[in-house]
Amino acid sequence: MKIHCNYIDGEWISATSGVANINPSNTDETVGWFAHGDARLAQDAVSAAGHARAAWAATGPLQRARLLEAVAAGIAARAAEFANTLSREEGKTLPEAQGETQRAEDIFRYYAGEVLRQAGELHDSIRPGVTVEVTREPIGVALLITPWNLPLAIPAWKTAAALAFGNCVILKPSEVAPACAWLLADVIHAAGFPPGVFNLVMGTGAELGPALLDNTIVSGVSFTGSVPTGRRIADASIATYKKLQLEMGGKNALVVLDDAELNIAVECALDGAFFATGQRCTASSRLVVTRGIYDRFVEEMLRRMSQVRIGHALNPETQIGPVVSQDQLERDLGYIALAKQEGGDLTGGELLERPHPGHYLSPCLVTGLRNDARVCREEIFGPVACVIKVSDYEEALAIANDTQFGLSSGICTTSLKHASHFRRHSQAGLAMVNMSTSGVDFHVPFGGRKASSHGSREQGRHAVEFFTAMKTSYIRA
Ligand code: NAD
Repeated sequence: MKIHCNYIDGEWISATSGVANINPSNTDETVGWFAHGDARLAQDAVSAAGHARAAWAATGPLQRARLLEAVAAGIAARAAEFANTLSREEGKTLPEAQGETQRAEDIFRYYAGEVLRQAGELHDSIRPGVTVEVTREPIGVALLITPWNLPLAIPAWKTAAALAFGNCVILKPSEVAPACAWLLADVIHAAGFPPGVFNLVMGTGAELGPALLDNTIVSGVSFTGSVPTGRRIADASIATYKKLQLEMGGKNALVVLDDAELNIAVECALDGAFFATGQRCTASSRLVVTRGIYDRFVEEMLRRMSQVRIGHALNPETQIGPVVSQDQLERDLGYIALAKQEGGDLTGGELLERPHPGHYLSPCLVTGLRNDARVCREEIFGPVACVIKVSDYEEALAIANDTQFGLSSGICTTSLKHASHFRRHSQAGLAMVNMSTSGVDFHVPFGGRKASSHGSREQGRHAVEFFTAMKTSYIRA
């Protein structure tokens, strides 16, 4: 039995036991065995990164750019292996997994270019004969903690940015889907980074978290995951004044107005609510629909949902893959039962039999509930969406904003006035017009407000805010 090992200080750390990574499309199949690190291993990773940080921070931009380019090329060379692994460990369809693999490659190329575009500022001082220089320095050692739903893209966008801006990295991927992060570590190893600059620590958050967080060597934590975990990480990090970037859950509203193009609205809602099995932080889990189009919208949604093909992620016919794990399936089914208890009318949300044993669940549309129902307020993170009927645009906007979250939002309308007003007044980090609430570009800022995010934005050139610290120097010639 091959165990995929942790990677510390430029070495693969041999392990005698591992945990099985199970394919959700076929639970009889094991994708691989992955080492589970403990507190001691976490400390070794912290020390390795701490020792490597000064030399790495001092490397020139061209060397860093070339190494990041080599990672992009390494991902491209093994793209089929990445996509196949991603489909098997997470349950995304092959085209979805291929898209995520391409994104990871593009992200490394983007940050290879970004390294060479860094610049500082020069100011005349208010004091004669003095110049003020503003520069950015790496924060030092960055701890990157990632979830299972984008098991390649999120490790890629955090790692590429952290390395580009001169930081050493400890990557702690989700124990539910660590295979893509392991493959990424293999590509980074082959690219030839100095030892200790990149370290991979696989295992549970509960076991690794304290050792990774209770030290003064890690200077910043970039976390993506659920709100309760984010809160725990924030509490632990503040004791040692770590810089924090938290990207968490969502309960994103897609508003559909009477004047919307029905086909566009239904396309956006289907994609946002159900594709990628609804397992997206930007999923349209609340569909806020005005009275005049409500019946036609629901009827067309149900018609289209009945045609969607759910199955094995690697089957070319499949449009929606399985739920990632037994735990997540139980969570989804729990919320489906709650929706019934709360008085909702449900279509779908049934377990499906397929030739292979897997976590197959049909998309579930809930109608007849108000925005104060628990299923309309709490993140489910599965293929379940509630349709909320409202009178007009003003009520739709108020309902869209009436949530603890603020990640993504969208509006389907042909009214320029309402689209413009919504973009300005949606209390979310992302506002989409006639587009799905999910699906974002990698070269522009990504993040939310309220309980969805804390700290500066990820991705694009704005990632520099988190991964560097500013220095202001006063120089008298
Ligand atoms: P999770 O919070 O359970 O786990 C996320 C990561 O945190 C995992 O690697 C886990 O091992 C680690 N962890 C858990 N406890 C820890 C601790 N005490 N100390 C240190 N690390 C710990 O989340 P998940 O189930 O993997 O992912 C789903 C969640 O991620 C959803 O809430 C979803 O909305 C969110 N998400 C957000 C974004 C975004 O950009 N806003 C993107 C994708 C997913």
